[in-house]
Amino acid sequence: MSKLEPQIFNLLGEEDSSFSLEELSAKLQEITGVLSDKVLFRVKKLISVHKLEIINGKVKIPRQKKVISRKIEFSKLSTKLKRKSDTRECLHPNKDECDKKIIKAHSIQNNKILNKISEDGDIIQINNCGAELVGRGKATTFKGFCSKHDSALFLPIEQIDFEPKNEEQCFLYAYRSIAKEIMAKKSVISEMKEFIKIKGNNYPSINNLIMGNEVGLNDLGKIKEKLDHCLINSKFGGIKTKLVILDRDYSVAVSSCFYPVYDFKGKMINNLEDYKSIPQPMIFTIFPQNGKTYILLSYLSNDSKMEEFTKQMSEFSDAEVNTVVNNLIVLYCENFVLSPKKWSAMSEQEKKEMTKLFNECPGLPLPQDLTKKRNFDLFI
Ligand SMILES: [Zn+2]
Repeated sequence: MSKLEPQIFNLLGEEDSSFSLEELSAKLQEITGVLSDKVLFRVKKLISVHKLEIINGKVKIPRQKKVISRKIEFSKLSTKLKRKSDTRECLHPNKDECDKKIIKAHSIQNNKILNKISEDGDIIQINNCGAELVGRGKATTFKGFCSKHDSALFLPIEQIDFEPKNEEQCFLYAYRSIAKEIMAKKSVISEMKEFIKIKGNNYPSINNLIMGNEVGLNDLGKIKEKLDHCLINSKFGGIKTKLVILDRDYSVAVSSCFYPVYDFKGKMINNLEDYKSIPQPMIFTIFPQNGKTYILLSYLSNDSKMEEFTKQMSEFSDAEVNTVVNNLIVLYCENFVLSPKKWSAMSEQEKKEMTKLFNECPGLPLPQDLTKKRNFDLFI
């Protein structure tokens, strides 16, 4: 799916370019080699998802969406870098038991969660290009475990429904989020090093990006050491979780971790400029199950500042918690997916505000950024 989507924006992104549905499908078939009936079906779907215009029988990108095609150009280079720098390894602590094959592991369960959110096998993922329709087999994957460890380690959350008081399940959701974040940082470092090889070393911002990610990776490595110790000794209480259960399936899933900078009373809880201290992560998991939506806010059991953060949250009303969770997702998380149905049901105004906030979020969200009511709501 993602193979076609950038190409459509590339073709339609040229000044004054417009194609009939059939012309567009024929061109895409030529470029991608995907069968024509499949292309036509996908194009129709993308037109509906992205609300492209059809004027006098010609498909056009509305003016405000032209910017997406420029972002796609950057994303093409990024795809090339990703391919060249392919980052994969098994992060399980018992490396001597690994099998050779490192698989594309799902950070959000494919069969249990993505399957339910998807439509015709696709889900919506928000990224720096806006909203992207992605095949669920490819969405939210990372290469951070060998086949043997991935299936053995995550069996209790892959095969068994979530039970609110199950410490092992809460631990595993958190462990996988941290692993995904480690691999994401490793990938960025490796891709940027590849970028320097291709484009030369004249970009201070790239060097800063590498340096920032190396510091982040170092912090995550220390956090994972603690989690590995818990895992090996089956001390799943090493992760504590505040659980929020919503009485409806909101068709949203998140697997992410971040460092909140301020608590809700305005006290700094993570000073990200202090490179000597290890920041305290909030590990954030959301998924639908049996008509409900489960929100897991997890933290390491000794991280008192995160305990206070979640304690302050439990003093909020249900509506306020919804607002905070809505903001935490868009301001702090990169790894979240929605159902195409939910995305299509949102107004253009709502989509615009959400993707704008996602792309331009303040580096250090303040308490008022987290409690502010927005014009979009993922939980209505
Ligand atoms: Zn392994």
